[in-house]
Amino acid sequence: MAAAKDPVCGMEVDTSSDLKFEYNGETYYFCGRGCKLEFEEDPEKYLDPNYEPHM
Ligand SMILES: [Zn+2]
Repeated sequence: MAAAKDPVCGMEVDTSSDLKFEYNGETYYFCGRGCKLEFEEDPEKYLDPNYEPHM
């Protein structure tokens, strides 16, 4: 089972999750609906190298 990192909170998430979102040709996975919605709202904020993932 593959793991990915939730870009919003930094949690490890399973890539078989349905909580995913494609952006710029990359697929991002999320621990929950809350994180996914936040990412969809402003992907650049979470992809910024200066952004520190936190709960
Ligand atoms: Zn999360």
